[in-house]
Amino acid sequence: MKIAIAKGDGIGPEIMDAVLEIFNAAKVPLDYQVVEMGKWVFDKGYTNGMTAEAKDTIEALGILFKGPMETPKGKGVKSINVTARKTWNTYANKRAFQTLHGVDTVFSKAGIPIDLTVIRENIEDTYGGIEHMLTHDVAISRRIISKPGSEQVIRYAFELAKQKGAKRISCGHKANIMKLTDGIFLNSFYAIAKEYPELNADDIIVDDLCMKLVTRPDIFDVLVLTNLQGDIISDLCAGLVGGLGFAPSANIGDNICIFEAVHGTAPDIAGKNIANPTALLLSGIAMLNHLGLTGSAATIENALLYTLESGKHTGDFGDRSTPSLNTTAFAEAIISNF
Ligand code: NAD
Repeated sequence: MKIAIAKGDGIGPEIMDAVLEIFNAAKVPLDYQVVEMGKWVFDKGYTNGMTAEAKDTIEALGILFKGPMETPKGKGVKSINVTARKTWNTYANKRAFQTLHGVDTVFSKAGIPIDLTVIRENIEDTYGGIEHMLTHDVAISRRIISKPGSEQVIRYAFELAKQKGAKRISCGHKANIMKLTDGIFLNSFYAIAKEYPELNADDIIVDDLCMKLVTRPDIFDVLVLTNLQGDIISDLCAGLVGGLGFAPSANIGDNICIFEAVHGTAPDIAGKNIANPTALLLSGIAMLNHLGLTGSAATIENALLYTLESGKHTGDFGDRSTPSLNTTAFAEAIISNF
């Protein structure tokens, strides 16, 4: 089986090389085709951030495993990541957040386990960037929420909750204020909930959700939200389990799926070989499970968890009194635990 790889910008090549080294050591039965995609490709004059050959390859292979990509600066220039999600209609963004032993947080220290999945709508909302000036000092942004767009991501969230064996699925929203747009999303949620009587479906206003997540994250199981609210909530959830270095994500479409870390290119530490590859590795493990390579996924996940539990860490987390490992040494520590 072959998949497309885009190493990305900033720390992208460093963490992708570390993850592929782990995959190769675990003898993951995949072939890789590296494609040209990222800010460095945009700089060569490709305004969507990828060559035509890269686009064809990704469409033929159906799976893209990517490093973070820098958003080019300038008016009217769209994020390469958002462009990719729209081009291939990856309508659901799945982010799983779990307590990782060896990664200390206020909740792990208090013995409160976290096992949360956030499904964020990935195409609609304000992410079309449709904005204009109404007068010289008033700007307008358009927010598009459709019933079909809401239904496809909500149905995916219910299916995932069923597979996960979740008891509770909650819709985060602001339909009390945005009655039409969030109203469509919330009504779609309850319409689809009728098809899943085995799941407890409820809703929660997004500001209340923020407060409850930081006080009792263990009461939630699967959350589904519109694009912007989901983006913010999922970064909040990353903080609950130790930060962006531990947050994987999958962009799910019917024909193409993109697996990537939640974090960005970390320009402040790029080129230093100190970035934490865990989020990309967890995204890779999710990709292996998605492809049915569950044995390889389990081998790598167990080695990662053992490495974290044994106190090995990159400089962004862990016990400050023990020396940190660089990206390459951290990958080697994981490999030594197979
Ligand atoms: P960022 O996530 O790159 O960095 C935020 C902070 O977290 C920085 O201090 C950084 O050093 C740290 N950090 C991030 N990942 C880390 C890792 N793996 N190990 C250790 N520390 C890590 O966010 P930013 O600085 O706002 O964005 C930088 C660029 O990345 C921007 O151009 C942005 O558009 C882009 N971005 C891309 C994606 C993506 O490709 N999916 C996602 C978010 C941001």
